Amino acid sequence: MDIMQLDEQYIANTYHRFPVVFTKGKGSLIWDEAGKSYIDLGGGIAVNSFGIADPVWCEAVAGQLSCLQHVSNYYYTAPQTRLAALLCEKTGMKKVFFSNSGAEANECAIKAARKYGNDRSGGARNTIVTLKNSFHGRTLATLSATGQEALHQHFGPFLPGFIYADANDLEDMKEKLSDPAVCAVMMEMVQGEGGVNVLRKSFVRETARLAAEKDILVIVDEVQTGNGRCGSLYAYMQYDIEPDIVSTAKGLGGGLPLGATLFGPKTQGVLSAGMHGSTFGGNPVCAAGAVSVLERMNQPLMNAVMAKSKFILRALTGVPGVKSISGMGLMLGIETEAPPQDIAAACLKKGVLVLTAKDKVRLLPALNIPMELLEQAVDTLKQAILHP
Ligand SMILES: *Cc1c(COP(=O)(O)O)cnc(C)c1O
Repeated sequence: MDIMQLDEQYIANTYHRFPVVFTKGKGSLIWDEAGKSYIDLGGGIAVNSFGIADPVWCEAVAGQLSCLQHVSNYYYTAPQTRLAALLCEKTGMKKVFFSNSGAEANECAIKAARKYGNDRSGGARNTIVTLKNSFHGRTLATLSATGQEALHQHFGPFLPGFIYADANDLEDMKEKLSDPAVCAVMMEMVQGEGGVNVLRKSFVRETARLAAEKDILVIVDEVQTGNGRCGSLYAYMQYDIEPDIVSTAKGLGGGLPLGATLFGPKTQGVLSAGMHGSTFGGNPVCAAGAVSVLERMNQPLMNAVMAKSKFILRALTGVPGVKSISGMGLMLGIETEAPPQDIAAACLKKGVLVLTAKDKVRLLPALNIPMELLEQAVDTLKQAILHP
């Protein structure tokens, strides 16, 4: 039987898949089972930071794989500590908890924020403000944190203790933060799944200032925006704020599952032994891959990300059928007149992979996508927009 039929028969049908089976890739090129090649502008949803089968990443992962694949968190391993040190050195954060996914990184952030608030108030401060249209994950806690009514269905009761403010609406945020039960505010600098909506600098800075005044923690969800995606190691670095907690995942492992929750000076001691844990979290193979990813996050790479971002912006601005373009760095959303799903399907036929988010075509290519492939893929996308 063919792969699509087997999938249909045996895999829980939670995904709308594109009708294509992939077998291999190299950098930003990927091949299907018929041998047709595609240029990848989706990056496995911002996961394959340096593309597919990148030689530096492969060497780091394979080297670790052949000496020690796992020992559990009862013991120390070098890749995990090395990765934590790198994350702290590069951000100024103080401590890291490792997990396996974005949802888990946020789950840890939520637990730590509640404990921080409860410790300081005898249990009276445990509400977290998140933003409408946000996305924080698929577990019950992170779904509850997600400010989208459409996702608060079927699985009730959802977790209490979350209130939702309008993104970029400072008055609404002020009002929400005035609730004495609030212990933290959590936000994505660019809402990814919500439609690639960029938060305004004034909104983020003022929110952070108000929060600090009230000893309310600032949690930045960098699961999608982080690890160079937006043209800086973490997107918050372009907002001149110092978060108390940063969560990240997707691009950190470069293609293997890894989540990280970073704690700042105020939160570094909140969790103690036995309060949280993960069997696989910080697995040495994933950590070794992530070390190699982070070691390559330097200014020249960030400059190249910004240059490619500008190229895409210039190439698509003013094209008939393009209504607007949003995003930062290589996390871009293109609002189109035709339904974005139609454009994604047309691109697939023409050999280019793009994603969608709400009413936009979403681009999350490898950070090191070669310029000539990017030019070719953007031209194909342009044709698909012109003739959907
Ligand atoms: C993808 C994503 C998550 C969830 O990550 P998973 O690894 O799928 O659990 C959380 N927050 C943001 C901002 C994301 O983009």
